[in-house]
Amino acid sequence: MRILVSNDDGVYSPGIAALAKAAKRFGEVRIVAPDVEQSSMGHAITSSRPLRIKRIHLDDFDAYRVNGTPADSVALGMHWWGHVDVVVSGINLGLNLGNSCWHSGTLAAAKQAALLGSRGIAFSTNVSDSLEPDFTALQSYVVRVFELLLPIKTLSLVNVNLPAKPKGIRWTRQSVRQYDGRVVADKDPAGRPIFWFTVTPLEGAAEGTDRWAVDHGWVSITPLRLDLTDEADLARALAVSNTPPMKLSRKKPQTRRSSSKPSRRKK
Ligand code: MN
Repeated sequence: MRILVSNDDGVYSPGIAALAKAAKRFGEVRIVAPDVEQSSMGHAITSSRPLRIKRIHLDDFDAYRVNGTPADSVALGMHWWGHVDVVVSGINLGLNLGNSCWHSGTLAAAKQAALLGSRGIAFSTNVSDSLEPDFTALQSYVVRVFELLLPIKTLSLVNVNLPAKPKGIRWTRQSVRQYDGRVVADKDPAGRPIFWFTVTPLEGAAEGTDRWAVDHGWVSITPLRLDLTDEADLARALAVSNTPPMKLSRKKPQTRRSSSKPSRRKK
């Protein structure tokens, strides 16, 4: 089995070495990841300049750094290796729960694999000012998640979050009840306005969600899908008409400026 390992914290993050170590038990491992941190870059891709890939020394691993985003790294890594069975991303320094799935670069790396017809699994764990992740302690849980997920071939995209000291594993759904993207205004030393985009969770999460699971000490495993279509809304819209009429509204169209201005000038 060919396992491509990537992340969004940069190829020199301790989390990627920990993930590669766990992956090594299950197959042939290659690391391809951004050369610098790309956290919160989401699924950005580089389309306006070429990408470069360079081999680096990282323990005994076959490892490479890319001057691009997490999604770039996975696309390039998969292209270069030819065939990849699964892409694993992380272990991210910081949880990726609920709404953060929308901007997570860790998850985007896994998502790129799913988009290219392979499978992707994202791993993230707690980090704070007072808490450094203990990757050695997490190793057995990461291995257990591999054992659990790799045989389930129908799982094309999975988001895994690990608390510092897991008591077990739970299947969960994405928590979308709270939004943690508040903007806080402040002033710089010269008195000019500045703004902080904050990522602090606002309230407790519902039982069965990813945030709830990690809050209660469980490893959270959330199966995700690429198709974002709202099936209920689509069904309601199709029930009315599957080809909405193109008829213009009765409101009188506004006079175009380009046609009215020259006529005024003539007078
Ligand atoms: Mn990150």
